[in-house]
Formats: sequence, structure tokens, C-alpha cells
Amino acid sequence: MSQYTPPLRDMQFVLHEVLKVEEAFKTMPAHAELDVDTINAVLEEGGKFASEVLFPLNREGDEIGCTLDPQTHAVTTPPGFAEAYRQFVDGGWAALSCDPDYGGQGLPVTLNQAFYEMLNSANQAWTMYPGLTHGAYDALHAHGTPEQKATYLPKLTSGEWTGTMCLTEPHAGTDLGLLRTRAEPQADGSYRITGEKIFISSGEHDMAENIIHLVLARLPDAPAGSRGISLFIVPKFHVNADGSVGERNGIYCGAIEHKMGIHGNSTCQMVLDGAVGTLVGEPNKGLAAMFVMMNAARLGVGMQSLGLTEVAYQNAAAYAKERSQSRALSGAKAKDKAADPIIVHPDVRKMLLTARAYAEGGRALGMQVALLIDEAQNAPDEATRRDAEASVALLTPIVKAFLTDNGWLATSHCMQVFGGHGFIREWGMEQYVRDNRINMIYEGTNTIQSLDLLGRKVLGDQGAQLKKFGAQIQQFAMANMQDARMQEFLLPLADLGEKVNKLTAEVGMKAMSNPEEVGAAAVDYLRVVGHLVFAYLWARMARVALDKADSGDRFYAAKLVTARFYFAKLLPETASLIRSARAGVEPLMAMEEDWF
Ligand SMILES: Cc1cc2nc3c(=O)[nH]c(=O)nc-3n(C[C@H](O)[C@H](O)[C@H](O)COP(=O)(O)OP(=O)(O)OC[C@H]3O[C@@H](n4cnc5c(N)ncnc54)[C@H](O)[C@@H]3O)c2cc1C
Repeated sequence: MSQYTPPLRDMQFVLHEVLKVEEAFKTMPAHAELDVDTINAVLEEGGKFASEVLFPLNREGDEIGCTLDPQTHAVTTPPGFAEAYRQFVDGGWAALSCDPDYGGQGLPVTLNQAFYEMLNSANQAWTMYPGLTHGAYDALHAHGTPEQKATYLPKLTSGEWTGTMCLTEPHAGTDLGLLRTRAEPQADGSYRITGEKIFISSGEHDMAENIIHLVLARLPDAPAGSRGISLFIVPKFHVNADGSVGERNGIYCGAIEHKMGIHGNSTCQMVLDGAVGTLVGEPNKGLAAMFVMMNAARLGVGMQSLGLTEVAYQNAAAYAKERSQSRALSGAKAKDKAADPIIVHPDVRKMLLTARAYAEGGRALGMQVALLIDEAQNAPDEATRRDAEASVALLTPIVKAFLTDNGWLATSHCMQVFGGHGFIREWGMEQYVRDNRINMIYEGTNTIQSLDLLGRKVLGDQGAQLKKFGAQIQQFAMANMQDARMQEFLLPLADLGEKVNKLTAEVGMKAMSNPEEVGAAAVDYLRVVGHLVFAYLWARMARVALDKADSGDRFYAAKLVTARFYFAKLLPETASLIRSARAGVEPLMAMEEDWF
């Protein structure tokens, strides 16, 4: 049976010792009063909710999944899901980082991010219901009219109502410019929306009183393509003038998908049959407004894979200490037994350490980005807010794609540690692999994230933002250069920084004569930059661990070992990635289409 312990010690390390969040929060008026004890207490309670309430529902959620009643269009979630959601709402967890003006607790996004990591470890499928709700809250908070905010935000904040994002249509996935759902303006200022959406996560369920769908659709006179898309609020039940839930609206679930993983989350085909909606933001500017939700969801998906990486690692490490097979190559270690525990074998250790390094590195990155979001929202001066926002924009595709690719590798390695026992259902490991696979696909596939990073975020501004990030690394390296113990981390970090600069310039040059070069290099490129970000964060974590090396606390000793493993065994992957990126587009396009 699978187990999960919230990694509170490591979270505290990242928050308090690496990122020094208390100091950072002191510069933000909204969070200036927040102290270490409060942060730790919230995470401890959040960890209990994740491990004691959600985690026990994970297995059954996978086995039973969601069911649709085709007569009533009602979806029933797995046993315990609705009750856990009620506890989540009653406990005020939905409101953690929401705006106090709408009933939120006003705590930092950083804290919410750490909380969501634990929820995802415990039960990714369940966590998607409140996760999407929070994204819908973000989009309406940024773009809703005062009336829309007053109507919807308090209920989304409390979690009494949940939210969805309705983008995808059968013929329009990555390319939303193709979408056909139509919105007809009505005399009363509302719109009648008709069309079909597919793959809508949490589109219908029995966990909340109302579901607020954020729907992309076209107005009758809209220009073709992505410039003609508008955003609408379409509630499952109309909302009466006094805020109470009214009649059923014309949006319903026509079918639910049967899929590889996340069975506990309802993936719905949503039919809009003249459903009444209200416009959010300006006509034809819907995609930009929706990007608030999409960016939040992209970070959220990164946290989903981080959560699964952590829980898979915990189980594989425990198993490797108990399962006995073969003797160590250097001779018997457990002489009183017929065989040694498999943790003596170098390759089992490599698999475990890979998952551990990806979990701890991912946690540092996830929290760093969340802290930047807090800064972007709350720093007193505009220049800091703008800088933080630009850093978040650069790092978002890396969180989404690098963490989910790593999560896929890590959960697969952890399953491998179990041998055949990982492949059968009993231990719960194959569910982690299956659940994790979607994270590389939805919210913009990882290919699309890579194109966003290289094409828009890096080449789009002639590398300016990437250079700023490089300058931060240089500053850190300069400050620590004198310490001989840091050389093993700083030298490869500086070396990779230079190589990224060269690679960026080379691809940028080639792309001027052939834009396909961007598409050929992007996926390798994102992984290289992902490693640059991880190497920087691992060097910072090693710095803290070195300072505590004499403390006798084995947490720091283990942190250093993991940092050294990362630099010795994972970072070198960048050499082959750079080679592949530099090989360019020719090997890909030389094949004629009809030869495939
Ligand atoms: C379980 C699940 C839950 C989902 N939840 C939601 C949801 O809540 N709301 C919602 O709106 N959608 C949701 N989706 C849809 C999801 O976001 C899309 O599946 C995804 O964006 C990809 O679109 P597609 O499946 O149509 O693939 P396609 O767009 O057809 O892509 C197919 C392949 O082509 C590649 N490709 C496409 N265009 C390019 C390009 N320009 N360059 C390089 N490669 C390209 C893709 O990377 C991919 O590998 C969900 C999907 C699933 C499976």
C-alpha cells in the first residue's frame, strides 16, 4: 500500500533558509506581519488535510472514477470526494491566498503553492477541482467587471462554487484560433452561447452547488483566428439578483472521457445549447484575459508533477530499504539475510536520487516562482513588480514543461524500483505514472511550452529577460567564488550559462533565415534552460547546506549529497541536448511527408 508524509522539513528549508520568505514578505505591505511560525503552522495543518483526508481517497478514486447519468447529465465523483471537498471549504482552505475584499485570507501565493504540492501528492485528480476554481478566480479578479466580481468572486473564494476553463473543441486544441463556439448578443446585454467543448476538466460533478464555466467563443462579427475570440462567464445555474442559485442554464455534460489516468477527475464533453453568458473584458480580447487562468494553470500543472514525484519517491525509497534481492557487488551487506536490500545497488540508488533531486529542485523552483508572483502583486514599487512579472513570464513554461517531463521520468524510475511489483496495481506505483502522463499534454503541450520559451520569451525580446536571469546567476557566483567548497557547483553552473548564451545566439541567427529552426531546437532548448535554472537553485541550496555542514544535522548532509548527485549525474544531460539542438532542422525535414 502506498504511503505519504508531507515533506514539511524540506519545505521549511526552501522557504526559510533558501528563499528567506519572511524577509521578502516584510517588504510587501500585505504580508509584512507574516512570521515563520504562522507559515509553518499553516503548512502543517495543510499537510494533515492532504495526508489524512485526501490521500486515503486516491486509490479508490482511480479504481471507481467518475460516472455520468445520461438522463440527468449528472456526474458522480468517486466515494469520499464530495465530503472531502466540503471539509476543504469548511476549513477555509479554498480562500487561503484569495483577496480579503472577497472573503479571502490574503495569505501569500507562496504558501498556497506549497499547500497545493501536498494536495497533488495526496490526490491529483481531486486537487484539479479546487485548482481550476482558483484559476477562474484569478481570471475574474483580473478582468471581471465590478458586478461580475461581486457576484462570483466571494463564492469562488470560499469554494462554494467551482470553476472550469472551456477552451478545447474537437477540431481546436493547440490552435484555439480555430474554435467555433458562437455567442449571439441579446437585447439585455447578455449572450446566448452555442457550441461543443471537449476535455473539460471538472466540467460537471456533485461537489459544489454551482459551476462557473469560463468559455471562449466567437461573436458574430469576430475576425477569424485568435484575434476573434471572446471570454464569457457561463454558470451551470443562473445566479439570481440576491446571489442565490436559480434555474438551470443551457450548458450540460454530454459525455465523460475514459482515460489513462486521473480517473477521479471528470473530463467532460460540454454542450452549450443557447446557454446564457456574460462577456468578460473586451470583445475579441478573450484569449488575453484567459491567459491569466492559463498561466495560473500552467504553474499548477508543474506542481501536480512535483507532487507525484515526491510521493512516488517516498514509496520507492521505503520499498528499496525493505526489498531484498541479490548481493551487493562489493560483497554481502546484510549478512544475517539471504540477500541484501536493493538499496545497495548503484542503479537503484540512481533511480531514487534522480527522483529526489527532481522533487527537491522542483520544490525550490515552484516556490521561487510563487514568491515572484507575490512580489509582482505586492511589492511597493512598480519597477520591482514589473521585474518580478517578467521573471514569472520567463519561468512559467519551464515550470510547466521541465517539472512535468521530470515528473514523468521520476515516477517511471520509482515504479522501476519496485520491479514487477511496480507494474501491478497493488503498490499504487503505476497510478502515479498514469496520472502524471497528462501533465505533459494539457495546458499547452510541452512542445508548445518550449516554443513559447524559445520563440516568444527569449528570441522575442532578443534574450533580454534571459540575460537578466544570467546576471542574477553571475551575481550569486561572484558572491560565493572565494569559497573553495562552492567551486564544484559554480564552475559547471557558469559553464552552462555560457553555453546557453551561445546556443541562444546560434539558434536566433539560424532562425532569421529559417523560422523552422526554432521548432527544431525548442524542446531540447527548454530542457537545457530548465537545467540551468535547476543548477542555480541547487547551487543556492548547496550554499545553505555547506554553511550548516558542522551542525550535525543529517538533513544538510543529505542535501549536499543530493546536490552533488544532481551536478554529477543529471546536469551532464545538457551536453547531448545542446548537440541535438545544434543539429538543427535538416535531419527532421529531410524526410518527405509521404515517406512516413
Ligand atoms: C484529461 C484532459 C483534461 C483536459 N482539460 C482541459 C480543460 O479543462 N479545458 C480545456 O479547454 N482543455 C482541456 N484539455 C485539452 C488539452 O488542453 C488539449 O488536449 C491540448 O491543449 C492539446 O490539444 P489537442 O489534444 O487537440 O492536440 P493537438 O493540438 O491536435 O496536438 C497534437 C500534437 O501536435 C503538436 N502540435 C500542435 N501544434 C503544434 C505546433 N504549432 N508546433 C509543434 N507541435 C504542435 C502537439 O504538441 C501535440 O503533440 C484536457 C485534455 C485532457 C486529455
